[in-house]
Amino acid sequence: MLGRLLYRTFSVMVGPRPVVLSGPSGAGKSTLLKRLMKEYEGVFGFSVSHTTRKPRPGEENGKDYHYVSREVMKAGIENGEFIENAEFSGNMYGTSKAAVQDVQAQNLICILDIDMQGVKNIKRTDLNPIYISIQPPSMSVLEMRLRDRKTESEESLQKRLQAARVDLEISKEPGLFDVVIVNDDLDEAYVKLKGALLQEILKVKDSRKD
Ligand code: ADP
Ligand code: 5GP
Repeated sequence: MLGRLLYRTFSVMVGPRPVVLSGPSGAGKSTLLKRLMKEYEGVFGFSVSHTTRKPRPGEENGKDYHYVSREVMKAGIENGEFIENAEFSGNMYGTSKAAVQDVQAQNLICILDIDMQGVKNIKRTDLNPIYISIQPPSMSVLEMRLRDRKTESEESLQKRLQAARVDLEISKEPGLFDVVIVNDDLDEAYVKLKGALLQEILKVKDSRKD
């Protein structure tokens, strides 16, 4: 009884562990994440990154990203406002301290959708997330999904495919990710993702009982 009480007090104090979702562009991170946030409303919170890329149709400023100019982004980085930042496919991306704090202040599981450079940089911080890699079943399936998504120009698509090759190679590094999920069948991948996060989900739900 006392052990459980101490555990609960501790987990409320430190809050749930954040989650890093990484993997090639087009692997299915956003799709899985949206499903997760919908099923577990009030459990997860998305760390809204900054980017210099243009919004895609349907994306909302402040919800999917904070869309900013290179000048604004650089100034923020120089001011020490970012936990990590990276250049990906010709654009800047970064996680601000405020993005993570906003989520953690609400005792939600903070989800970061970041590229491989971001993973490496977060490893140097004390954020202590669970690292999950979402991977496509093959490069040809990835290319098909990216083309079908119809969000990229041919140039951007080729840059993303090249980055994907590098990403998939680096992700083989032992210990880099806690969990690797191959997103072939979406339902199966989703079940695996939920399984990997179950402990943290229970922690949040448990801390709200009474
Ligand atoms: P990411 O966020 O990793 O860039 P998306 O979630 O945008 O990737 O997924 C890329 C495209 O692939 C989207 O059009 C999405 O609907 C589709 N997709 C995602 N997962 C699957 C899957 N398991 N099977 C078929 N299509 C998928
Ligand atoms: P997209 O342009 O498709 O939304 O994202 C391109 C890549 O940038 C994806 O791999 C995504 O995970 C990554 N990304 C998005 N936000 C961030 C961020 O804040 N930091 C880093 N390092 N990568 C990010």
